[in-house]
Amino acid sequence: MNLTDATHDPALTSWVESANVADSDFPIQNLPFGAFRRAKTDEPVRIGVAIGDQVLDLRLAAEQCPWTNGVTDLLAPLAAGDLNAFMALGPNAWRRVRAALSAALAEGSDQGPFLELCLVPQSDVEMQLPCRIGDYTDFYTGIHHATAVGQLFRPDHPLLPNYKWVPIGYHGRTSSIGVGPQTVRRPRGQVKRPDRDAPDVGPSQRLDYELELGAFVGVGNALGEPVPIDRAEAHLFGMALLNDWSARDIQAWEYQPLGPFLAKNFASTISPWIVTMDALAPFRRPFAHPPGDPAPLPYLDSEFNRAHGAIDVTLEVWLRTAAMRQRGLPAQRLMQSNFLDAYWTLAQLLAHHTMGGCNLQPGDLMGTGTLSGPQPGQGGSLLELSRGGRQPLTLASGETRAFLADGDTVVLRAYCTGVGARRIGFGDCTGTVVG
Ligand code: MN
Repeated sequence: MNLTDATHDPALTSWVESANVADSDFPIQNLPFGAFRRAKTDEPVRIGVAIGDQVLDLRLAAEQCPWTNGVTDLLAPLAAGDLNAFMALGPNAWRRVRAALSAALAEGSDQGPFLELCLVPQSDVEMQLPCRIGDYTDFYTGIHHATAVGQLFRPDHPLLPNYKWVPIGYHGRTSSIGVGPQTVRRPRGQVKRPDRDAPDVGPSQRLDYELELGAFVGVGNALGEPVPIDRAEAHLFGMALLNDWSARDIQAWEYQPLGPFLAKNFASTISPWIVTMDALAPFRRPFAHPPGDPAPLPYLDSEFNRAHGAIDVTLEVWLRTAAMRQRGLPAQRLMQSNFLDAYWTLAQLLAHHTMGGCNLQPGDLMGTGTLSGPQPGQGGSLLELSRGGRQPLTLASGETRAFLADGDTVVLRAYCTGVGARRIGFGDCTGTVVG
């Protein structure tokens, strides 16, 4: 099966010069969707596509550029600022619009002179949440995270017996999802210290980030109608970075028996641009559980999932403290991992989520869980990198961190590279802690 088409050709270049720079996150092969408004205006939110260091304003583009009739119809929800309505149209519509945008933005396109007037510099816009997120589920597909965190709490049996059979997840909080760059207020909560009889109430002293990807549902499903895994891919629209901020001290006291609550619901930050599943096609990889592990149950298994279920996405966490900012020091990379190390694929998550009849809707968000790598320095949270806070990291500035301090800026980054493919990136997912 050929997953790629002319829009993925690594030789393709754009008349938007900044898109042709080798390390641009947004070359013409990417074309991610986001929502924006021009900075310091009250204009209605518009949908745009990132190209180089510019945003293509799709409302202007629909109005001011000639398109074939079919494409004009498909652009209508985007021109109206309603990404959810476009997500609901399904893969054929997504691919037709991608092909049309790719052709229009390509070097030598007749549409260039029209679309040139529809570009806004990314530095002149304020990004908004890309779509209405009705529901948010956070999974736990990072087996190296689950093992490392389990070791802190249960050295003898870090991984619970269900882990290799069932994709673990919980229903999260949507109202506190924001788009980066944003400030995140340190939460207060109940914390029970081991040497005290009663909990104390105060600001979290063990504030952490979680490096995750989030997958956006495109086409929904009706209540009571599960999506089988061989149709699950057609329901997935795209992905963004997700920082699932976590207060570890609050979490440790409250999590039993029902799981995370106030430790997670104070803020989650996503990156502004949704990189579509179509853009990720060149980076699909075979998927299998490690030898000796149980094979996925039949409802979590398909030929396509085995051949193409995994996605090669390099992930990074960068940190810049207030002192580093004051001294003019750049952000420091704390770790690097890859989505290939996840234990379940997105199609498996969607098939599992709906198997009991749960209905997903366009714009719903599924977090992958913390994506740690197998090596000790590849923890996707400070909880792992500092071994539960016992081994603080020493930063290039000479400062140490077991958990986040006020003024710390956390930047999640992700990009895809591969043989015969143009590098694409996700853009930054940035949040700064304030007290
Ligand atoms: Mn999480």
